[in-house]
Amino acid sequence: MVDFNDTIVALATPPGRSGIGVIRLSGTASLRALQRLVGCEDFDPRPNVLVLRNLIDPLTGVTLDQAFVCYFKAPHSFTGEDVVELQCHGSPVLLRAIIDATLALGARMATAGEFSLRAVANGRMKLSEAEAIRDLIDAQTDAAARQATRQMNGAISHALQPLKDQLLGIIVRLESSLEFVEDDLPQLEQQQLLDQVRLIHARFEEMAATFKRGRLLRDGLRVTLVGRPNAGKSSLFNMLLGRSRAIVHEVAGTTRDAITESLGVDGVPILITDTAGLRASVDPVEVIGVDRTRREAADSDLVIVVIDGSQPLADEDQKALLEAAVHSHVVALNKSDLDTFSAARIDDEAAALVKTSAIVSVSAKTGAGLESLRSALLQPFANGTVNSEGLMITNARHHDLLLRAIEAIASSESLLQQNASEELTLVGLHDALRYLGQISGETTSEQLLGEIFSTFCIGK
Ligand code: GDP
Repeated sequence: MVDFNDTIVALATPPGRSGIGVIRLSGTASLRALQRLVGCEDFDPRPNVLVLRNLIDPLTGVTLDQAFVCYFKAPHSFTGEDVVELQCHGSPVLLRAIIDATLALGARMATAGEFSLRAVANGRMKLSEAEAIRDLIDAQTDAAARQATRQMNGAISHALQPLKDQLLGIIVRLESSLEFVEDDLPQLEQQQLLDQVRLIHARFEEMAATFKRGRLLRDGLRVTLVGRPNAGKSSLFNMLLGRSRAIVHEVAGTTRDAITESLGVDGVPILITDTAGLRASVDPVEVIGVDRTRREAADSDLVIVVIDGSQPLADEDQKALLEAAVHSHVVALNKSDLDTFSAARIDDEAAALVKTSAIVSVSAKTGAGLESLRSALLQPFANGTVNSEGLMITNARHHDLLLRAIEAIASSESLLQQNASEELTLVGLHDALRYLGQISGETTSEQLLGEIFSTFCIGK
C-alpha cells in the first residue's frame, strides 16, 4: 500500500506536444522541491496563487523553463497533502527533464490514480466521487459527462445518506431491544419498522433500476453492420456518422476490413463497425473479412442487418438474417428511395424466417428513416429513450453493491415479517449498511481501493 509520507510526481496533461504541460507533485516534500526548482530556498509562495518563475535544474543550475507555479497548502488541496503544480511549456523533452529534476529531489513517479487515492484516503472526497472524476475524463458524450459531473458533486452519497441514516435508526432500535431483554418490541413498533424497511428496500430497487440506462450512458453500445455486399452497409455507416468515412462503391466487396467509429445517440456513445459483410467468397482477403464480420457481430451488443429492400430477398440476405437472429438485432431495409422497394414484401419474408425485433425502412441515399433507425438501436436496451437527466447508477461496482444491499435488506424484511428474533433480523440490516458504505468508500478494503484506482490515469 502507498506510503503517504512520500512525495509523488506525474504529468497531469496528456503526453505529447502541447501549448502547456502540467506537472503535479503531492506530498510533504512538494514545497521543498518547488523551492529547489525555482532556485530559492526561502521561496514562500502564497497558497493557491499562480506565480511566474524560472525553473532551474538543481543539479546543473541550468534554466529549464519559465513556468507558472502554484502551491496548494495541506489540507486545502486536491489530495489533502501539500501539492505543487507546475504549468510548463508543453515540450515532451522539457517536461521529462523537469520530472527528472523532481525525481532527483526525492519525489517518485505516481502510480495510476494515486493522486485520487490519496484524496479519498485523506477524506477530501468519497470513493464514488473519485470514480466519477475518472468517468468524467472518460466520458464520450455530453450526457455521460453531465451524469459524471453530477456524481462528482456527490449526488450518489447525497442520495444514499438519508437511507443510511434510516437504516442506522432501525438498527439502533433493534439493538437496544436486544440489550434490554425485557424491552420486547411492541407489535405496533414492529409494524412501523417493517414499513420503514420496505420503504428503504423500494428506494434501493429504484436506484438499482437506473443502472440499465446508466450503464448505457457510461459504457455505450457496440453495434455492427452486417449483410450481403452492396446492401448499403457502408452508405448507412456514413449516413449514421454524418460524414463519408467508409468507401461506397457499386463493386461488391469494396469494404474488406472492419472500420469502427463512434457516434452518440440520445447521449449514448455507440461504437459502430462497418464490416466486409457476409457472403461466400473464394477471394482469400474477402474470406478473412467475412470471418472478421462474424467475430465483430459476436462481440457486439447489437447487429444491424442491412438488406437491399429494392430487390427480392436473396439467399445471402436470408443467411445474414439467420446468423443475426442469435444476437440482439435490428433489420434496416435499405434503398427505400427506389421504385422497386417494397417493405411489405420483405417484412413478410423476413418475419417468416426469424423473429425480428424491429424492421426499419431507410434510405442511406436520402436519409429517410434515419431517425427511426437511430432510436431502434436503443430500443432493445432502454425502450427506445434514454433519459439522461436525474441521478443514475452508471458504475457496475455501485450496482453490484446495491444488489447485495437489496438481497440483505429483503432477508431482514421477511424475518421482520415473521417476527423472527432481533438478532437474526439485524444481520441483513448491518450487511446492507456495510454495502452502502462500500459505494462511497467508507468501508472499502485497502486492497480493493488499490484495484479501483489502478483503472485511473497516471497524474489523476
Ligand atoms: P455495402 O457493400 O453493403 O457496404 O454497400 P455500399 O454502401 O457500398 O453501397 C452499394 C451501392 O448501393 C452503392 O452504389 C451505393 O451508392 C448504393 N446505395 C446504398 N444505399 C442506397 C440507398 O439507400 N438508395 C440507393 N438508391 N442506393 C444506395
